[in-house]
Formats: sequence, C-alpha cells, structure tokens
Amino acid sequence: MVPAFALLTFASCDSLKGLMRRAIVLFLFAALLVLALQTAGPGPGQVHQLAPDVYLRQADPDKRIIANAGWVVFRDYVLVIDANYPWGARAIVEDIRKTTNKPIRYVFDTHYHGDHAHGNSVFVDAGATIVCSAECAAESLRKNPPAWERSAAEYRDVRLEHPQIAFPDRMAFDDGAHRVELIKVGPGHTLGDSVAWLPKEGILFTGDLCVNRRSGNNVADADASPEGWVRALDGLMNFNPRTVVPGHGFLGGKEALAGQRAYLQAIIDGVRSGISRGQTADQLAETLDLGGHGLWGADKARNAPSIRAVYAKLKNR
Ligand SMILES: [Zn+2]
Repeated sequence: MVPAFALLTFASCDSLKGLMRRAIVLFLFAALLVLALQTAGPGPGQVHQLAPDVYLRQADPDKRIIANAGWVVFRDYVLVIDANYPWGARAIVEDIRKTTNKPIRYVFDTHYHGDHAHGNSVFVDAGATIVCSAECAAESLRKNPPAWERSAAEYRDVRLEHPQIAFPDRMAFDDGAHRVELIKVGPGHTLGDSVAWLPKEGILFTGDLCVNRRSGNNVADADASPEGWVRALDGLMNFNPRTVVPGHGFLGGKEALAGQRAYLQAIIDGVRSGISRGQTADQLAETLDLGGHGLWGADKARNAPSIRAVYAKLKNR
C-alpha cells in the first residue's frame, strides 16, 4: 500500500493544480446539490423535521391529502396542527407514531374547513381533544353539518366532531421545553382563522392565510375578508418567522407571507380602481394582470373567481 501523501509527492505541480481544480468542482457540485435539496423542500406526503420535536407532514394531493399538517412533541404529549380530512388524519397518526409514542392529546384546527378539520373524529378516537378559536368553533357548528352531509358517502366510518376547547384570542401550550401559541388573527380566509406560532424556533403554521401552491389561491372562499386578510398577514410578518408552513403549498420563510400579501393587495387595488372606472367584475377578471405574483398569480383561470369575489365584496360598500 502506498500512502496517499506519497503519491502526491510524485505528482507534478500541474497535476496538483488539476487535482485541486477537480476538488473545487466536486465541492461546488456537492454544495449545489445540498442547496437544491434544501430549496426543493419535502416531497408529497413526506415528514420533515423542522426543529427538534417539531414536524411537518407535507400534503399529498395524489392521495387527496391536500393540506399540510404539523405536530409538536411536548414532554408528555403531542399537539397536532390541523386535522386534515379523515383519510389524511389516519396518515398523520401513522406518521406521528414513527416519531414518538407519546399520546396525541390535542389537535388544533387552524379553521373549520373540511381539509383541516373533518378528520377531527379520528384524533378524538385516538384520545385527543380538538382546540380552535371561538369564532372557528362557532363556524364549525354553523357550517360543518351541511358540508358534512355533502360528503356523507365518503365519511361513512367517521363522524363530525366539533372542537371541544375554544379560545377567544389566544392560547398557549408551554412545558418549558416547547411553547406553541395559538393566535386568532382572522377574519381573513375565514372568520375564525388562527395560526400556531412557535416563538423559540421562529416557526409559523399559517393555515390557509398563506397558500403558495400554483393552483391554490383561495381568495374566493365565501367568508374571506380581503382587507382583514392583508391586516392579518401584516401582523404575522411582524413575528419575523424564520420558517413559514403554509396551509397548502411549500415550506418557506417570511417571503411566503409577503408574496401572499402582495397578491391580495394587487387584487384589492386593481378591483378598487376598476370599480372607480366603472368596470364590471367580468372585465376585471379578464384584464387584471396578476402575472407578476409568482405562483400566486400564475393561474389566470384561478385568479378570475378571486377577482370576482373581491369585486362583489368591495362593490357593495
Ligand atoms: Zn385548506
């Protein structure tokens, strides 16, 4: 065996330079690979550790698990963020069990919509209590029974569980090791929107106040308050989050909030000036250009109902 340093002593100066060049190229390639992997984020259905004891389960649209979910492993229990659809809830429980054996004691619904809350009973059966804002709980009581009826065929083996603990403005889980603040910031996407904020880790779970997938803007939801939503995002940006987990879409940072805000504000501004010029909703849906807003504005067909919905709300002032 000839030691590597001995081989090097035989190498000419030129070949040494060549070796160094190759080493630099290899290093740059490895660095780019790491960067690409980080930028790509977790793939569909993957569990990604955001920080010690803090996990994201990325949505998996092919399995109709369209919303992201998360969980925090406290000293004695697990807190889940968003219950998902029933089939999503089962997948989340399975994945939680790969990270901890601690009991799933609480589930926080960011809002009452089915893709975030209709899996509640799966978690209740696993021993959990469902938590959300008082406004969200009221919305669930009022609006979820008819929504549940519409999906009755595929909800045969589950039941509608409304949240059992409701907080007016905020509620904190803190065991010294971890702190999760549930903060009501709606009306925005719905009346009772709340977020989960982890101040120590700088992680923010936004629910549908931030949605950055291509086909995922949800401004046309019946209860959305475009201006309240912008105010909510301003408040969230003041948290200075390092990590933003959107309700749907890709892991991001503060820029995800800024992008969502800019898109909403562009619709509001465009619709306002259109109304003052006497334009109709259809004309604005056709002409308002949101192409400069990345993924948010990329789908013209999806922008149109958002523009019409904002128009209907601003026109009737
Ligand atoms: Zn959603």
